[in-house]
Amino acid sequence: LNDFPFSHALVLGLAKSGTAAAKVLLANDKKVRVNDRNATKEDEVVMQLQALGAEVIVGEHPLEVLDDIEIIVKNPGIPYENPIIVEAERRNIPIITEIEIAYSLVEGSIIGITGSNGKTTTTTLVTEMLEKSNQPVKVAGNIGIVAIDAAQSLKKEETLVLELSSFQLLGINKFRPKIAVLLNIFEAHLDYHKTMEHYVQAKCNIFKQQTSDDYLVYNADDPVITDAVRHAKALLIPFSTKRNLENGAWIDDEWIYFKDEKVMKLNEVVLVGDHNIENILAAVAAAKLDGATNEGIRKVLTTFSGVKHRLQYIDTIDGRLFYNDSKATNLLATQKALTAFKQPTILLAGGLDRGNEFTDLLPYLSSVKAMVLFGQTKGKLQELGHQAGIETMELVENVDEAVKKAYAISNAGDVILLSPSCASWDQYRTFEERGDMFIQAVHKLV
Ligand code: ADP
Repeated sequence: LNDFPFSHALVLGLAKSGTAAAKVLLANDKKVRVNDRNATKEDEVVMQLQALGAEVIVGEHPLEVLDDIEIIVKNPGIPYENPIIVEAERRNIPIITEIEIAYSLVEGSIIGITGSNGKTTTTTLVTEMLEKSNQPVKVAGNIGIVAIDAAQSLKKEETLVLELSSFQLLGINKFRPKIAVLLNIFEAHLDYHKTMEHYVQAKCNIFKQQTSDDYLVYNADDPVITDAVRHAKALLIPFSTKRNLENGAWIDDEWIYFKDEKVMKLNEVVLVGDHNIENILAAVAAAKLDGATNEGIRKVLTTFSGVKHRLQYIDTIDGRLFYNDSKATNLLATQKALTAFKQPTILLAGGLDRGNEFTDLLPYLSSVKAMVLFGQTKGKLQELGHQAGIETMELVENVDEAVKKAYAISNAGDVILLSPSCASWDQYRTFEERGDMFIQAVHKLV
């Protein structure tokens, strides 16, 4: 642990990242107390940490857990209204997340990626572009891999690509990525962050410690971001889908550019959707700054068909193109998905009824020729289809049936798109389970 001047830490929340944090601190001779309200003394990790020398308090969050504590490693999911956090702030005890600890373990360089949307896609793209350019690289963070685990095994010459949520970014202090990427900032998570200003600030933490030796890749088409980066010290590298940029990543009708260099032809890109062009430009900029080659980038973009369940191309069967966008659990995501296609589209949608209306989808339904609907909201969506003048509307029981029905009513050249616009929990445990059923159903058609 470089530069970690605390000897007694409280690890709050024992998910995978908390456990990793506790272990690293113990291995570095720090005194560690762990506290988790939902854990029990019999849990394997609890017993393990105790055996390693941690003091364990589980089943409750008494304020005494703060006694003698110099620093708190907080799980990003624990809200700042938690009485322990409120009291810790009153006592001026610093609060960090595992990202800060991971940072103090890393000797190689870090690419940190954040934004309201597109984090996983961009993080995956950057990682693969570097891999295909034979640059040594590891990926971790919000993408589902504990950053500390990746940081511990990172070699000096390796790059660590980190997907960072705003929750993780609130708990950083010295964290300083060589390359920071700021994708977009929409109103989101205001239950956690309270105000938009607070949310923007959390996102901007990503470049707070950067100096003129570092790079900040940012979305020049996003007014909130262009305003925020005026205070950055890093070298600014903009990306834009709307205008030519001599100092960043951009496109014209034919090419993807980085500065004045042609990287590859736009029509060779497999990913669909305007939002993905933004993700691609951000990824190209970050990867080029870290040594990726145009050939490596081309290898990725001519084959990469999307992160699983995110407007992911599955297959073409008898001329029908199948796309899985099961991650689209709200209207906005389905709007993005529908904008991606000019072909006649059969939309598979429906799911948990949150009491909302779907009228904001209306302007996006012009290329939808049929809807196949399932789940609690199928009636509401059918009503919407009628309003849009869509003639073919089918109600089915689940995604498996929806695929069969869509195929039966389709023609060659159609897009068959699962973009439910609803959460999955009325019928499926997760959006992944729903998307997997779609993929299996498509494969069964062959
Ligand atoms: P995140 O990791 O930030 O949740 P993902 O890459 O998993 O982002 O994409 C999730 C969804 O967000 C996509 O299915 C798409 O609907 C939307 N999305 C992705 N990239 C962007 C973008 N650059 N701008 C707006 N929306 C996007």
